[in-house]
Amino acid sequence: MKIAFFDTKPYDRAGFEKYSKDTGLEIKYFETRLNPDTVSLAQGCGGVCVFVNDDVGAETVDRLCEIGVRLIALRCAGYNNVDLGRCAGRIRVVRVPAYSPYAVAEHAIALLLTSIRRIHKAYIRTKDFNFSLSGLTGFDLHGKTVGVIGTGKIGRIFIDICRGFGMNVIAYDKFPAEGRGINYVGLDEMFAKSDIISLHCPLTPETYHIIGAEAIERLKTGAVIINTSRGALIDAEALLEGIKRRKVGAACLDVYEEESDIFFQDFSGHIMSDDVLARLISMPNVIVTSHQAFLTEEALDSIAKTTVENILAVERNEDCENEVNCSGGKAGD
Ligand code: NAD
Repeated sequence: MKIAFFDTKPYDRAGFEKYSKDTGLEIKYFETRLNPDTVSLAQGCGGVCVFVNDDVGAETVDRLCEIGVRLIALRCAGYNNVDLGRCAGRIRVVRVPAYSPYAVAEHAIALLLTSIRRIHKAYIRTKDFNFSLSGLTGFDLHGKTVGVIGTGKIGRIFIDICRGFGMNVIAYDKFPAEGRGINYVGLDEMFAKSDIISLHCPLTPETYHIIGAEAIERLKTGAVIINTSRGALIDAEALLEGIKRRKVGAACLDVYEEESDIFFQDFSGHIMSDDVLARLISMPNVIVTSHQAFLTEEALDSIAKTTVENILAVERNEDCENEVNCSGGKAGD
């Protein structure tokens, strides 16, 4: 099978070359993203391989079907960018449900520690031989309460790490995990009690803006919000307001609501057109990384291995355990 690989970055290729070697798979790499304007690049290919910000909406799916593409291979876990209903019965969709949940959980902790111990400030100061400590006072994690929304693979690892710090963990999940000793509470209680909130649930119509103006109002003053899941879980404008009003103590964001035209690209030297993002980044208590949480050697290797296996299974017309049920049978992300 020939695969059109969209949104290629230099770090993607090594793993895919390694695992596709000697399989008969031919991969055509394109730097551009998949969207209705670029879909014709997949002409002659049996499948497309896409990432989190490719546009696989209804129009793209229709065009893919028209040109004979039979497979959409997501090299990520989330599939909120794919119109599954449009794919049902026409085109198969596979994904990588887990690659390194440690990568994402550890990145969430890295952001948290950087933020609350002001490492981002200290790094810049000492580079400039400024050894003053003024304004760098942080707080201990030990004894603090962290609220975790979504206790799947990543959320549970995040919880384990937090327990190692001696934190008190409370959690909310629509489908609580049995027998794992997790203290589940309702969202109201979580918002009222948490010093830190970390998001690890998928983006669905139900979780869209789960942190919006109303939720922020119910938070403890000074609460820290971490989002390494999907940008639209947070209403970015409401977050900015919460920060300006000093209600939110700090925000650690690896994802952003309107990231698709911005993240993964170099805009240094350009005028940033997204005012909300620019204002958030200008805040001393906001740290933004550009959807980087997955980016470890282990995760990249695992993504390439599983994606190639998924593609080969579909090519052989076999069942694939990582196939997304486009008729709506499979919940979550
Ligand atoms: P997972 O499927 O193992 O866990 C998701 C959890 O969310 C499940 O326990 C599920 O029951 C829960 N959930 C579903 N609907 C919910 C709702 N309405 N309210 C509360 N909880 C709900 O997924 P995971 O592997 O732990 O990944 C979590 C998220 O992390 C993914 O959805 C993805 O968006 C994100 N992610 C981000 C990156 C990154 O690089 N930043 C990388 C991988 C995954």
